[in-house]
Amino acid sequence: MTRSALELDLAACHSCHKVSDIKNPECPRCGAHLHARKPASISRCLAFGLTGILAYIPANLLPIMVVTQLGTREKSTILGGVATFWEMKAYPVAITIFIASVMIPGLKFVALAVLCAAAKGKINLPPQSSNKIYYLTELVGRWSMVDVFVVAILVGLIQLGNLMSIEPGTAAIAFGLMVILTMLSAHAFDPRLIWDRIRKESPTNPSSK
Ligand SMILES: [Zn+2]
Repeated sequence: MTRSALELDLAACHSCHKVSDIKNPECPRCGAHLHARKPASISRCLAFGLTGILAYIPANLLPIMVVTQLGTREKSTILGGVATFWEMKAYPVAITIFIASVMIPGLKFVALAVLCAAAKGKINLPPQSSNKIYYLTELVGRWSMVDVFVVAILVGLIQLGNLMSIEPGTAAIAFGLMVILTMLSAHAFDPRLIWDRIRKESPTNPSSK
């Protein structure tokens, strides 16, 4: 097996990706702090992820928007909104909101937990599966703000004074917070830790014992 950059005391800069000697405290090209792996990667990933789950609960239980129509105020949660759109026969909108706001954040938490467990060696995942799960978290991340955008657009569009108005509810803040926390969690995770683990456990690696 060929030796990894880490075994050759080389590290790639996190900012400019220049590969240089790990003994350098800073990247010789851009001056960024140099470290072989993201420091405390798994702890930070789990900390942000768990805080994200805490925000996921009020994001789904509290009202995401408050609709005032002819003097009556009606609060609706994310799932309530999905049901309303479904009843209005706006199926694509209902499905999009459900996938983006309920399914994707949930999946992302599970995926990050699985990756952390794989990097820690708690579970055995084939390298191809780890790669796919990591790619999935990167891919879905950019779609998870859809709900906040839907509320933002509705708030901007529907302001008919006393006839009808839409205001964002408390859950919108919790939802935004949850999206930011899952982004930080995914960013804190260093995927190379998975390959390090697989390398260490590989029978063809002479240094594995
Ligand atoms: Zn650099």
